[in-house]
Amino acid sequence: MDKLARFLEERERQHLLRVLAPLEQRFPARAVRDGVELIDFSSNDYLGLSHHPKVVQAAQDALDNYGMGAGASRLMSGDLAIHHELEETVAEFKGKEAALVFNSGYQANIGIIPALADRHSVIFADQLCHASMLDGALLSRAKLIRFRHNDLVHLEELLRKRRAEFSDALLLTETVFSMDGDLAPLKGLVELKTRYRCLLMVDEAHATGIFGPQGRGRVSDEGLTGEVDLIMGTFSKALGGFGAYLAASSTVVQYLINSARSFIYSTALPPAVIAANLAAVRWCLEQERPGQQLLTLAARFRQALQGKGWQVGGESQIVPVMVGESEPTALLAKELQRHGFLVLPIRPPTVPEGQARLRFSLCSAHTDEQLDQVMQAIVPGI
Ligand SMILES: *Cc1c(COP(=O)(O)O)cnc(C)c1O
Repeated sequence: MDKLARFLEERERQHLLRVLAPLEQRFPARAVRDGVELIDFSSNDYLGLSHHPKVVQAAQDALDNYGMGAGASRLMSGDLAIHHELEETVAEFKGKEAALVFNSGYQANIGIIPALADRHSVIFADQLCHASMLDGALLSRAKLIRFRHNDLVHLEELLRKRRAEFSDALLLTETVFSMDGDLAPLKGLVELKTRYRCLLMVDEAHATGIFGPQGRGRVSDEGLTGEVDLIMGTFSKALGGFGAYLAASSTVVQYLINSARSFIYSTALPPAVIAANLAAVRWCLEQERPGQQLLTLAARFRQALQGKGWQVGGESQIVPVMVGESEPTALLAKELQRHGFLVLPIRPPTVPEGQARLRFSLCSAHTDEQLDQVMQAIVPGI
């Protein structure tokens, strides 16, 4: 127990201690903490779909029809027609032959990757891939090789040196990076995966609902649906629900039903969650480009911050404002909260040492006026 206490003290000393800070209520772009209303720049509910009347109604109807829990795992008796309805809709949404629902993005990645790779495989992963992909890679016992973030030259050098030693290879990236908000060079990755005979798996957690026609994601936006073998994404961010999906060939999906342990050994998602996810995907399918207005808003915000001398990253609705060290980043976030803005400080180990930042997650409910206000409130060196 001493060891645990020492760990906590050390974290505290480095300003890296993580603590839970509950909100009393949360709405799109708005949150209430300690009785105070805050403008929320921290949630991934980018389109406010968590509160969309059609989504909420679908969940309520499903609760009335099915009750709460699914009762068992999919392969036992928790497999309901509505799970399949969602999977068929997602397959259409993503333009793939089939889709499989997982209980969360984390569970999808730690289930899919070890099912596809083993001790004889090699995994090439972007250095900034989400922890769930890295955990999946570690669980698989494959050789894990990380390439510099979005660096195709480095990736090719590694492929040239190491690919031939292994029978099969998996290439992993996110299409929109969660902490940097920048975009993976998908065309270049497809070219390399073809030349070096790798399977390409992408995580569209932050692209789903935002990029592409009907919010189908970046793979679809770039016309690469046929080239990307495995397209994973979540219902938990722009779609405002919970859970995740993989869109791929029927063979891959059938194989995963038989081998992805996080799919096999976990109770199916509750029907109300599935119904809400389904309503959110259907809503997207009725839109032209549901993320376009938000992306334009984010581009304006980014430009305005740069004009004030901030170092700002990203090319999406995620706008990281680089600060550097952990302590000033945490203080800046605290100060912003005092002014009525909820903005999260992102610190190591989530991001590399010396790259602590404020992560602004914009959503379609934000107004130009709110963006102006928060910009006035971030003052360097407070
Ligand atoms: C959020 C996220 C996940 C995890 O998804 P959950 O549904 O929250 O478990 C996986 N990958 C990326 C890139 C994410 O941002």
